[in-house]
Amino acid sequence: MSDKLHFETQAIRAGIHRSAFEEHSEGLYLTSSFVFSSAAQAAARFSGEEPGYIYSRFTNPTVSALQERLAALEGAEACVATASGMSAILACVMGLLKSGDHVVASRGLFGATVQLFGNLLQRFGIETSFVSPVDVAEWEAAARPATRLFFVETPSNPLTEIIDIAALSAVAKRAGAWLAVDNCFCTPVLQRPLELGADLVIHSATKYLDGQGRVLGGAVLGRKELVMEGVFGFLRTAGPCLSPFNAWVILKGLETLNIRMQAHCAAALQLARWLESQPRVERVYYPGLPSHPQHALARRQQGSGGGIVSFDVKGGREAAWRVVDAVRMISITANLGDTKSTITHPATTTHGRISPEARAAAGIGEGLLRVAVGLEAIEDIQADLARGLAA
Ligand SMILES: *Cc1c(COP(=O)(O)O)cnc(C)c1O
Repeated sequence: MSDKLHFETQAIRAGIHRSAFEEHSEGLYLTSSFVFSSAAQAAARFSGEEPGYIYSRFTNPTVSALQERLAALEGAEACVATASGMSAILACVMGLLKSGDHVVASRGLFGATVQLFGNLLQRFGIETSFVSPVDVAEWEAAARPATRLFFVETPSNPLTEIIDIAALSAVAKRAGAWLAVDNCFCTPVLQRPLELGADLVIHSATKYLDGQGRVLGGAVLGRKELVMEGVFGFLRTAGPCLSPFNAWVILKGLETLNIRMQAHCAAALQLARWLESQPRVERVYYPGLPSHPQHALARRQQGSGGGIVSFDVKGGREAAWRVVDAVRMISITANLGDTKSTITHPATTTHGRISPEARAAAGIGEGLLRVAVGLEAIEDIQADLARGLAA
């Protein structure tokens, strides 16, 4: 059904296979295993001769529905859902790489992703070089014969730096490496990395895909041979799979993804413009502003600026914390992609575990704040921030 329908329609309709009860809403299959009619059928299912469900660590109808819908939205051949965004990245690495392989990754990654590549994977013989989140030439220079994977987020977290995915994909191909793009900030509403030449797309479904801050989830998307033989092979053996309940919540989230993203983007642009006019704000980082260094690339690659606005407050940590402590409505929490606006001081929270030198190299200063703009009235969001900026 998916091919000819529009994006908004697929977000609502793709992946639905009704049961014998003809339910209208997506069915929620809370079951750990599935029964067979005979010993012969059990054997045929296990050997793969007969398609069908066996056990929810490998496959579950609700999880399959989510995978099918998300694959339709990203334009992917295959999708596997995972327990969280981090387990999606882990499954990608464990499924496709081996000891001795080398990774080139952006310096502007989510904090836990930096920990994973920078520390944990090193213990298993996978080395990572961290390079510029904007300059493709640095990636080319960092590639080695053992390089197997390029890993990037665009826009980066929290500074919203943009890299040219098509240009990076050309460099990855020359280096013999797969390009994986963490598409958490943009979602397929704004950006479809596979169409731009990426080999893999990673999602933290915890963010905009759920969109209401309820559950954790993740996904890996791409060509069938990479996703099903590599990533799914790891997942079915090692087990960081998505629960059917969480898959169901995320399926319902996808139904409103398009209109939510449009609203997040419109509000974020308005907030970014307002922040730029505030005397206590030193700099605003938002791809939708003409002052953003990659504004033209952002317009071409992701349509609009997204829902995340970061800004430097004059006066360092003290001044930034004053803004955080003055809010009465905006939630002080590290989550993003929620209908509720959130505010974070990256240097002491999401990026607090990386060294001060690495933080400085990534451009994350003590005065930096990140706001994930929710769907409340923009006037209320501005008023909440104005209090701390006026103090
Ligand atoms: C949150 C996040 C992750 C990790 O996702 P979890 O679901 O929290 O494990 C990865 N990448 C980005 C960009 C994120 O924002």
